[in-house]
Amino acid sequence: MSRTAATAGRRTGGLTRALPGLRRTLHRFRHQIAAERRLIALGLLALFAEVGLRLLEPWPLAYVLDAIVAATGADLTTRTSPIPAIPGLADITALIIVCAVAVVGAVALRAAAAYAMTICFALAGNRVLTRVRTELYSHLNRLSMRFHESRRTGDLVTRVTGDIGRLQEATVTAAIPLAGNVITLLGMFVVIVIMDWQLALAVAVVFPLFLLLGGRLSRKINHVSRGQRKAEGELASLATESLGAMAVVQSYSLESRMEQRFGGNNERTLTDGVQAKKLSAGLERKTDVLVGLATGVVLLLGAHRVLAGALTPGELTVFLTYLKTAFRPLRDIAKYTGRLAKAAASGERIVDVLDAQPEITDASWARPAPRLRGMIELREVELSYRRGQRALAGVNLIIPAGRRVALVGPSGSGKSSIATLLCRLRDPDSGQILLDGWDLRDLTVDSVRSQIAVVLQDSVLFADTIRANIAFGATEPVGDEWIRWAARLAGADEFIDRLPQGYDTVVGERGATLSGGQRQRIAIARAAIRNAPIVILDEAMTGLDPGTEADVAAALRRLTEGRTTLVITHDLAAARDADLVLWLEGGRVVRGGAPAAVLGERTAIR
Ligand code: ADP
Ligand code: MG
Repeated sequence: MSRTAATAGRRTGGLTRALPGLRRTLHRFRHQIAAERRLIALGLLALFAEVGLRLLEPWPLAYVLDAIVAATGADLTTRTSPIPAIPGLADITALIIVCAVAVVGAVALRAAAAYAMTICFALAGNRVLTRVRTELYSHLNRLSMRFHESRRTGDLVTRVTGDIGRLQEATVTAAIPLAGNVITLLGMFVVIVIMDWQLALAVAVVFPLFLLLGGRLSRKINHVSRGQRKAEGELASLATESLGAMAVVQSYSLESRMEQRFGGNNERTLTDGVQAKKLSAGLERKTDVLVGLATGVVLLLGAHRVLAGALTPGELTVFLTYLKTAFRPLRDIAKYTGRLAKAAASGERIVDVLDAQPEITDASWARPAPRLRGMIELREVELSYRRGQRALAGVNLIIPAGRRVALVGPSGSGKSSIATLLCRLRDPDSGQILLDGWDLRDLTVDSVRSQIAVVLQDSVLFADTIRANIAFGATEPVGDEWIRWAARLAGADEFIDRLPQGYDTVVGERGATLSGGQRQRIAIARAAIRNAPIVILDEAMTGLDPGTEADVAAALRRLTEGRTTLVITHDLAAARDADLVLWLEGGRVVRGGAPAAVLGERTAIR
């Protein structure tokens, strides 16, 4: 999050406060935006048409007014009117009819243009952000364990859903109208400068006042919005964590404590939200007052200019209408900057994630591993999760292909860390890991992972059918017969067949609707279907009841038959039938050899 902190700490003045975040967001998404350039060009065309028509709108009224004033005998001949006479329309009634029709036509056309513009931009914005969302999700999938361990799931979920949604909304309800308003404002200003630059100058004095006001307030809004988004992320994290661990929450009676924490966070988002609303409402009202001020000034000076013959009454009405229409956008700009400030906060949260680099990537020279035989070698491997705390402190080991090796040792000695390294969920700080003599870093990540099957203590299933859960293990699409074969091997076919929907039974989230032993057997089937030369069992038997244990053990035996097998266990009995036992302590292999030699008469780790 250092980048956000850096941006937050940067001092930029005026309306641009919200802009660094926006600029960063737009820059990051430029390719996705460029892909929609045709829609955007079309939208811009409609936008310019709309602005042009809006500029034309008050003119028929001016014509009519001036014509009436002239017809009723006011002396406007002291000056030459800049409004050209319309040839063939000497008759005032005809002029009035034409003008009335023109007003209706302009308004109708403007409505059509505005509609086209909204559709084009909304479509483009939604397409861009849908693509960004997909990219964000797949990027999250590729980010390393180190990243995910340091983030809270709920917060990341809010970024994928809430923050993207907010950006989507902001493009339609803020960015597009804002662009329209700014262009309208500029167009009107140009027209009034041409009409009477002195009067235009008086109006222009109000602008700096507005910028001053808007700048200060949108800075505050941006700040508050950021806090609000953060609190919302925390809220989501808290909810995902506690809802995902309902059994713990209820059995420890943590409900009221969780509610309290949730309530506190919820309050905070509310106060921040109200604060942001208050600020932007304040800005709108203050702009209203400024508009009133400007209108008063123009009425005063403008009437003088008309009396002096520098303006026609019709032109003064155009002036005043412009002022009214021009300052409505100005007021809306206040509203839109508020929304944009919020969107900027959301955009930054998305870009922050997208800018995080996956640590485990294919080296430029990496090539796909051939089918491995399964020899594993670790040379002087060191790994620390935190500075100064080495989880592995120089591990050396060789596991010949096709052998069964038990990795035993006290909890925290680094056994699982070795499994993590083999799957390349992390890279070691130093040392080398070799498979069949190839350094892992010279092989592509996917080609290595596809040749390793892992069964963990707490196997996680996805909320999908049993069939799909087993098939997730395969590296390529598999037929039903293979799924049944894997289930049979895992000893899972019997209970699956007894389920009312068999293989089509949808399991609960994380497999919650199955017993531990059943879950484990499906995980074994998932590993079996991978048909990998290397199998890692990380405490795969721990926590099962004795009845199930024997079944699962037999299934694991069938799974590991003829494959290089790393059995991580603290059950010394399970280690006895290995070909080789390695005893790990404090991140080092302290003993290694035949089970009898290493374990002796021991039955427990300590
Ligand atoms: P074992 O599997 O032998 O119980 P581990 O390999 O899981 O041990 O852990 C070795 C050491 O590394 C422990 O001290 C543990 O606290 C630490 N550790 C493991 N995983 C992480 C992690 N993701 N982040 C920080 N420290 C970790
Ligand atoms: Mg472990």
